[in-house]
Order: sequence, then structure tokens, then C-alpha cells
Amino acid sequence: MIKIHDKLFKPYLSEAQILKAVKKIAQEIALDYKDVTPIFVGVLNGSFMFVSDFLKEYQYPCEVSFVKLSSYQGLTSTGIVETLLDVSEDIEGRSVIILEDIIDTGRTLQQLVNLFSTTNVKEFKIASLFYKSEIYNGEYTIDYVGLEISDDFIVGYGLDYNELGRNLREVYQLNHTNMINLVL
Ligand code: 5GP
Repeated sequence: MIKIHDKLFKPYLSEAQILKAVKKIAQEIALDYKDVTPIFVGVLNGSFMFVSDFLKEYQYPCEVSFVKLSSYQGLTSTGIVETLLDVSEDIEGRSVIILEDIIDTGRTLQQLVNLFSTTNVKEFKIASLFYKSEIYNGEYTIDYVGLEISDDFIVGYGLDYNELGRNLREVYQLNHTNMINLVL
């Protein structure tokens, strides 16, 4: 168990389990794109570790860029998704593959779909390392998924709890006794 700010988190995914999910995505994308030179677009801040490990597994021609979006504050999605960086200049006529750390409600994904639908990309795909399938209520079908996970707040491997925990090598899950404390 580890403590971050005021909350306790328990071990959830080991480094080996995470890397297996990263490799799965890299292999699936390679099957579809190894002859195409896609542009991978990482969604900051949470995806930086995923993008780094993914690129070490994806050993075919590709370009890399980043966008910065945010919809979370503390433990809950605020519903406000800001786009802080637009990558539209470089992507005309290209195959763009978004690399997301986690898809939760799907609001961020919808913002990305809106952002890229105004560009002249050749095609647009989404890969997410973690996917909370139980609470996703978006219309877009996720193209590549590393691991489907339960509807609990996680931290580590790039994901934060109020900016702490991004540097953890494993993924931790909010301990349920915290949830009881939150309700009381
Ligand atoms: P959505 O817009 O799908 O509700 O949420 C997507 C974004 O919220 C992710 O890119 C991530 O930044 C954040 N997020 C969603 N679920 C979690 C979680 O369990 N832990 C952390 N640390 N961030 C999350």
C-alpha cells in the first residue's frame, strides 16, 4: 500500500503486465501500419511513459507528436476538456494514431475526435493503454486497447493523483476504504 497526498493506493498492475499491454498495442498497430509511416500523437501529460515504451516496441518508420488536454482534477473528471496545443499543421494527408494513457468517460476522446475532424488527415485512429469499458459512454469505437480495467481511480506509469505518482513504475488503484471515507 502507498500513500499519495491524503489517499491510500494498493498495487494493481505490475511492470510486466503493463509492458505486455504496451507490446500488444505495438504489435497490432504494426500489423496495420508498418508500411505507412504514421504520426503517433501522445496525449500529455499522462501518456508520456506509454509513448516512450510503445516507441521502443514499435520499430518501424513513424513520426511522433503530442497534444495536451485535461479533464481531471483530483479523483474525478471535471467535464471541462481544454486543448492546449494544436498539431494540425503537420498532419494533412497523414495517418494519425492517438496514443492515450486511459479512456474513462470518453469526453477527452470526443474532444480529440472533434479536433481531428476539422483537419485534413487521411485517417484517424485511437489507441489507449487502459480502457474503463464499464463507464465509457462515447460513440467512437476504440481501435486499439491494451487492457480493459475496472471503474476505479488508478495512479502510476504516467497517471497522477493531483500531480503526484506519475513516476511510479507500476500502476496502483485507489483503496476502497478511501472510497468509504469519501462518502462519510
Ligand atoms: P475521460 O475524458 O475519458 O473521462 O478521461 C480521460 C482522462 O482523464 C485521461 O486522459 C486521464 O488524464 C484522466 N483519467 C481518467 N481516468 C483516470 C484514472 O483512473 N486515473 C488518473 N490518474 N487519471 C485518469
